[in-house]
Amino acid sequence: MAPEGGEAFDGRDLPPLCEKIFCGGGYASILPNFEHRPEQERMAYCCAQAFSGNSPLLFEAGTGVGKSMAYLVPGIIAAKRFKRQLVVATHTIALQQQIMEKDLPRISMMFSNCEALSDCADFRAALLLGRANYLCPHRLKRALAEKRELFDTAESAELERIAAWAETTRTGLAEELNPPPDPEVWSWVNADSSSCAPKNCPDGSCFYQNARRDISSADVVVLNHNLLFSLLSAGMGAGEDENGVLFANDMLVIDEAHLIPDVASDAFGLSISGPGIRRELSRIYDPRKKRGLIARSGLAEFRDKQIVCDAIGECEELFAKIKKDFLLSRDTVRLSSPDWADVSGAAGALDSTMRLLDTLAQNAPNERLASEIKDYRRKVSGIKNAIEDCAYLSDPESVYWLEAAGAGGRSASLNSAPIDVSGILRRVLFSGGSPVILTSATLAISGSMEDFAGRIGAEAAESFVCDSPFDYGKNMRAFLFSDAAAPDSQTGKMDCEKTAAYIGRLANVVRGGTLALFTSRADLKKTAEILEASGALKGRRLYVQGRMPRAETVRRFAEDANAVLMGTDTFWTGIDVPGDALSQVIIVRLPFENFKHPLTEARMERAEALGENPFIKISLPAAIIKFRQGVGRLIRSARDRGIVCVLDPRMLTKSYGKNFAAAIPTPRVERARADEIETFVKEEADYLFSPDSGNL
Ligand code: SF4
Repeated sequence: MAPEGGEAFDGRDLPPLCEKIFCGGGYASILPNFEHRPEQERMAYCCAQAFSGNSPLLFEAGTGVGKSMAYLVPGIIAAKRFKRQLVVATHTIALQQQIMEKDLPRISMMFSNCEALSDCADFRAALLLGRANYLCPHRLKRALAEKRELFDTAESAELERIAAWAETTRTGLAEELNPPPDPEVWSWVNADSSSCAPKNCPDGSCFYQNARRDISSADVVVLNHNLLFSLLSAGMGAGEDENGVLFANDMLVIDEAHLIPDVASDAFGLSISGPGIRRELSRIYDPRKKRGLIARSGLAEFRDKQIVCDAIGECEELFAKIKKDFLLSRDTVRLSSPDWADVSGAAGALDSTMRLLDTLAQNAPNERLASEIKDYRRKVSGIKNAIEDCAYLSDPESVYWLEAAGAGGRSASLNSAPIDVSGILRRVLFSGGSPVILTSATLAISGSMEDFAGRIGAEAAESFVCDSPFDYGKNMRAFLFSDAAAPDSQTGKMDCEKTAAYIGRLANVVRGGTLALFTSRADLKKTAEILEASGALKGRRLYVQGRMPRAETVRRFAEDANAVLMGTDTFWTGIDVPGDALSQVIIVRLPFENFKHPLTEARMERAEALGENPFIKISLPAAIIKFRQGVGRLIRSARDRGIVCVLDPRMLTKSYGKNFAAAIPTPRVERARADEIETFVKEEADYLFSPDSGNL
């Protein structure tokens, strides 16, 4: 072990060392703008204990605690001194960028300037991306040689553009290409192919292998949730006889962990659509373009191509029938008994395609082409298994459903997800004998982590809740409107006219910007149209989710500094606009999940079967976490101030309203009516933004 001050260093020394770093006047004081925060010191200490004790930890750290530094610093010291890899998984690119571009350079600077930590200063960090993000120079060369058999004119031009870029790129990452590469062409040249044979590629020529080398020698590996869980669901984690989750003996931190139950559900479930199947099969042979894998090198004869055409036809027929029989009047249908459809035609045609690919692989002129054909054989087998899995509802622990898919919802998709991911997560995350830390600003309900721990199989983990250091009593007011429009009790529909009027008037109460959070895209669209037509925004710009790319929407909203932004879904969680550009959050409706969605419905049935109240067990906790995320968009730094307005009168009329009220961090929660917007609400807001409030 590396020494600290000349002494031998073992795991027990890590927590006190972290205290010395984060305490008032500690080593971290040399960092520009560092402020001692007792909450951060406590979190760093707890993380250090988890790393050195190989134990699981759930840590809720309110906004402003500085949680990424609190897990990175002990994690990197442990990585360097105990020769283990620290793996950090985030949901958003924004947090990945913050870690790579801001936090890690600050930590490196602190370590370099502190004698007791200087042995850790040369830590190495790398971003782990999926293989499909990298260009494969070998496949590019082959695609260029065979472009006539693979691509039409426009695709050939795109291939040439990629080839020109390949001459200059140092990373080979698709994200460098602007505009982004055509997905169809990229699928022929990316590194996600089992025909990959590194020994045949010149040393240093492969972007993906170079990245892998960086990963294996890195002390810190950063990746996103989706990649982490897709690797784990594909069985590509640490070996069964090794400690560790993703790599042998690693230490895992999952940030933004409130999203893990949903991410894991997606990763361990399946979703396969009619258009997606057509795309995959057309890469083998596309009857329209008369191109594809088996059109190469005169590999296949007419009757061989016909086999693939038949498979495409059978699958299209199956999905068209599913759409017609089940999805004409609904977007989602739960499947509850097996053999709901006859899939034998599609399954038989896919079987024939697999046999064809077996034969063609045997006759392929070289090993690489044979591997590529086998790759597609595996994909066809995966398609067939997925169709049969959904037809027979094979897994009693999963829920199965159909959904409209493709352009204009004209086709269908087959979907499944585990009803309860706790058992899976207990196995893949918490049985490896290595430290696993899950953290977020919103994990607890009324200060308790019991619900979250149960959902992810982490009942044995220690848990802590650390409140935000921000002074919410001083910088935030919340107003619960008693006379806003309640959703219709029969149809659940919202009164968009009334909501638009509220938003228009409330937007003018603050000088800065307003974020209005919806739960339904249809309501959002209609309300936006009414608001625009009303002229109530008096020159403020209105940004509406879906009208331009999300990042662009948020950037412009922040730049305008007094605009109105209306969003659903990810806008509840992923927006970080500090300062007065976001001075008000309007919660249009309490964010209960759609209980008619098959997965939610199945979870509620499961709770009921276990003798639990499904509303209390499933709906309410999920809605409170999302509500906390939405409210949390308002105060992003110690100098921020603003108001939260809740337009859903159920806050005041239903018994569960008090649970939501308790989730608002300010003690200054007031009842209000529409006729008080320009008086009481405005006066409170004006005070909040005045020098008298002490907030400037
Ligand atoms: S090692 Fe694999 S991914 Fe890399 S260039 Fe060779 S074939 Fe492509």
